[in-house]
Amino acid sequence: MKTYDLAVVGGCSAGLVAAINSKRINPKLRVAVIEKLPRIGKKLLATGNGKCNITNLQALEHDYVNKGFAEFALQSYPPEKIIDFFSSLGLLTYSDSCGRVYPESNTAASVTDALRFELERLGVDVICDTPVTEIKKTKNGFAVNGEYICEKLIIAAGGKSSAPQGSDGSGYALAKMLGHSVTKTVPALVPLNASPEITKPLKGVRVRNVCLTLKGEKILKKTEGEILFTDYGLSGIAAMELAATAQKYIDNVKRNPFTYIDFLPQMTFDNLFDYLKNLSKIKGFCQIDNLLTGILPKAAGIAVCKACKLYKADKEISSLTDKELRIIAEKIKKFPLEVTGTRGFPNSQVTSGGIKIEEINEKTMESKLCKNLYFAGEIIDVDGGCGGFNLQWAWASGMLAGELKQENDL
Ligand SMILES: Cc1cc2nc3c(=O)[nH]c(=O)nc-3n(C[C@H](O)[C@H](O)[C@H](O)COP(=O)(O)OP(=O)(O)OC[C@H]3O[C@@H](n4cnc5c(N)ncnc54)[C@H](O)[C@@H]3O)c2cc1C
Repeated sequence: MKTYDLAVVGGCSAGLVAAINSKRINPKLRVAVIEKLPRIGKKLLATGNGKCNITNLQALEHDYVNKGFAEFALQSYPPEKIIDFFSSLGLLTYSDSCGRVYPESNTAASVTDALRFELERLGVDVICDTPVTEIKKTKNGFAVNGEYICEKLIIAAGGKSSAPQGSDGSGYALAKMLGHSVTKTVPALVPLNASPEITKPLKGVRVRNVCLTLKGEKILKKTEGEILFTDYGLSGIAAMELAATAQKYIDNVKRNPFTYIDFLPQMTFDNLFDYLKNLSKIKGFCQIDNLLTGILPKAAGIAVCKACKLYKADKEISSLTDKELRIIAEKIKKFPLEVTGTRGFPNSQVTSGGIKIEEINEKTMESKLCKNLYFAGEIIDVDGGCGGFNLQWAWASGMLAGELKQENDL
């Protein structure tokens, strides 16, 4: 049996910074990171399309699920501190106009490498190829897999999204072994299954700056950004950000919500109608296929006309009546797709749900049920939207857990 002061289960975003912070604060600690995959930080390599969107400068204003709980960690380790932390590892960053922060190298591998070298410099034991399957509480701490003994334990095993990158939900079982409960989990930041009979002919068509409204009996959520039509439904950031809410609605209400696309949120209905009326003057002799090519990709414009039941290949624009133009303007502002589900955990970036926040002290990340046990990252019931917010949560909660504070230290 090998003995440590601290063992961290899960060697990716939250777990790696937790180990680093604990060792920086107290260099004498004997610290181990136990990772089931052959190498640490594998998921990080896939983040931000291989560029790793490290954090977002607007994270403190972001509408995280369970924001109240997450606030202390996020304020203790705001994006600026995370940027400084990476800078202390020699990794420089830049931010774009939306506040998204990336490594100067534009390469996610640089982030993993920076963390890996720091673990090495600090003398943290990195134990790979070791899935943790059993944790037992002992008199003075924990026994992990019957092989490692530690006084303190941080579980940072992620959720169950994108399992080949490591996190397969096994962390929840470990938390349950120590008396914790897990809320219902659903895939978040994942494409939507929605009206494939409409979206399939539009496969590959991308539309920027749309507004999506998800509606059941009432409005459930609104998002803005890009959408991508696929053969099964809708992808793109604006669609993916609706997924968790849509899935929860389907599970709870047992009915499908609709998402309404506003293709031109910057234009009022009246302005749009005037624009369309003017078009019948400018290009009245053209066929209806070309009606909306000045504002939408051609295939999307045809889909709008078809949805209005006004499409006939040889119909001339000049033949459209005011009533028909009004119907088209309405459809551009409110194009409906029925959401029947999502592409599931394997295709999701994040898991919504996790260890119950009521069971964790938000000022320390220590369990309220089991002394010397801490949690960090996505395994906790906190998640955010696209744009660096989920990694920001992983870093901030990992750093805080790594302080190994207890309630009476506060
Ligand atoms: C394709 C993709 C792109 C993304 N892009 C971004 C982005 O650009 N910006 C952003 O903010 N977020 C992004 N995310 C989300 C972000 O990667 C996660 O929210 C974040 O990595 C969570 O960190 P974590 O350390 O809590 O969990 P994870 O990163 O999931 O790490 C958990 C680790 O624990 C290990 N593990 C699990 N179970 C066990 C076990 N039983 N024993 C031992 N080890 C175990 C896993 O192998 C893994 O290494 C993306 C996610 C995906 C899938």
